[in-house]
Amino acid sequence: MLKVISIMLVFTGLVSIVAALKPAYRTYQSVRGRDWGILLTLMAAFVFGYVSFLYMLFFSPSSLLDLGMATILCGGGIFVIVVMQLSFKSINHANAESIRQFHEARHDALTGLPNRTHFMEYVNDLLCKENLNKKHFAVLILDLDRFKEINDTLGHAVGDELLAQLGRRIKKLSTSNNMVSRLGGDEFALILPVVDESEAVAGAEQLADIVEQNFSIEDYVLAVDSSIGIALYPRDGVDQGSLMKHADVAMYLAKAKKQRYVVYDESKDYLSSTRLKLLARFEDALLGEEFELYYQPVFASGDLPVYGFEALLRWRQPDGSLMLAGEFIPQIEQTRFIGSLSRWVIKRAVKKLALLSGFELDLSMNINLSAMDLQDETLAAYIKSCVDEYSVNPESLCFEVTETAIMFDLPRAIEVAAAIRSLGSNIALDDFGTGFSSLSLLREFPANVVKIDSSFVATMSVNPEDRSIVKSMVKLGHNLDRSVVAEGVEDLNSLNYLKQFGCDFMQGRLLSKPMSCSDTLSWLDAYLLKSKEELGRLNNIN
Ligand code: C2E
Ligand code: MG
Ligand code: MG
Repeated sequence: MLKVISIMLVFTGLVSIVAALKPAYRTYQSVRGRDWGILLTLMAAFVFGYVSFLYMLFFSPSSLLDLGMATILCGGGIFVIVVMQLSFKSINHANAESIRQFHEARHDALTGLPNRTHFMEYVNDLLCKENLNKKHFAVLILDLDRFKEINDTLGHAVGDELLAQLGRRIKKLSTSNNMVSRLGGDEFALILPVVDESEAVAGAEQLADIVEQNFSIEDYVLAVDSSIGIALYPRDGVDQGSLMKHADVAMYLAKAKKQRYVVYDESKDYLSSTRLKLLARFEDALLGEEFELYYQPVFASGDLPVYGFEALLRWRQPDGSLMLAGEFIPQIEQTRFIGSLSRWVIKRAVKKLALLSGFELDLSMNINLSAMDLQDETLAAYIKSCVDEYSVNPESLCFEVTETAIMFDLPRAIEVAAAIRSLGSNIALDDFGTGFSSLSLLREFPANVVKIDSSFVATMSVNPEDRSIVKSMVKLGHNLDRSVVAEGVEDLNSLNYLKQFGCDFMQGRLLSKPMSCSDTLSWLDAYLLKSKEELGRLNNIN
């Protein structure tokens, strides 16, 4: 009996050790550590020990000592299998965790698509020297149009759901030969093996079709457009950086031109990619109230009473800084966006003038127009609608236009300006002296105000020639029955000269720099207080 129990115990231990060999071997295979190799050898030696002891138990009389030994061997075997199973499980768990983390680091959580890091690795792999199968391919970058609008108006949950649905649609384009990715935000990218440009264009068309199918989210049915930029390897770049940049530039061009896609074309002026980015942000900026009007006071000659303000546009940047009109208006003027921007400015400035009427100062408001505005035959009607909406006197408005803008299409510009004049509003020839300064233009164009450019005014106190030019301009303006404004008055000497020459109005940093909407109001408060004090002082003297 003692013998049978001992044999059974040792046999159980042996089976356990043999069973533990499998997880130990698999762990050794996944870890490939020397320690696990030694452990495996030891376990094999133990198996040999167990078999030898079993053999001895069979062929010799058993004792209580053998039973004790058999119990220890049985426990040892069970201990080994438990430890091996647990080790194997924890190592497996750790492996799975690190695989998950690796996957997460290279995939986007919202759409499940490969992220920017993964995408860049893929492009690098395609481009690396060792890749003997280097083939032609296209990089497509897609950006949704007006996605910010959806986020802002319908909320981020709807925006996220739209991206998730789009991600699922784009994922369907994924094959073993290409790569689809969400680069971030509303930007997606695709790598397509292509032979030529037409194949890349076909890919872009397919991608645009996918985006343009309506999205059903909550109770909304949303239609979304996209802009796609295409760059081809090796034609448009042989390294990751230039390929991505060129696809990006083409994408911004597609956005600015309102096209579904644009293929990068080196012969075009792409130095201005910042310009294109600026334009791409424009619509969102207009909706997001990123534009602001600053107001620079204009003073009448003599005792310099405030006469009115010139509205000057500013663009608030995401970092809080202000971009001056001169830094972005010329770019926007090259697009059809300028029309909507000018209308925004007109409405704001007219509204501001209505607000200023509370100061009992019969103030005027100068508004700058662009060349395109002078081609817009409906502009006068729009101005009239603003004037009516805010009940302001149209005679208090003055629209400033430059000679260059007028020359774009002179007959049409004259028509539009005449229509504005017929409302009772004024037209000023801005920056006079820097453009064509054609005297016939001064005669033909229905402007009743001339603004002498700051380049003459700023230097007139030190440069006698500029002084003579300013003096002649004032005289010329008056002889043609135009009011004359000098802009860019920066020093007292110039101011005194201008008064001496009989210049009607002046503006410049010496008198006041352009101010924000709220600063303008406090400035006027302070101005009125000072005027009343001066009036009181004069009455006391009398
Ligand atoms: P502008 O109409 O000749 O406006 C005067 C510019 O001179 C403004 O620059 C103003 O800030 C600046 N300035 C003010 N005081 C002084 C001074 O003492 N010295 C000098 N040298 N400059 C002074 P800003 O705001 O950058 O505007 C530049 C140009 O952009 C404007 O020239 C105007 O042509 C255009 N602009 C401004 N706002 C608008 C707008 O709402 N619509 C359009 N279409 N054009 C605008
Ligand atoms: Mg101006
Ligand atoms: Mg000017």
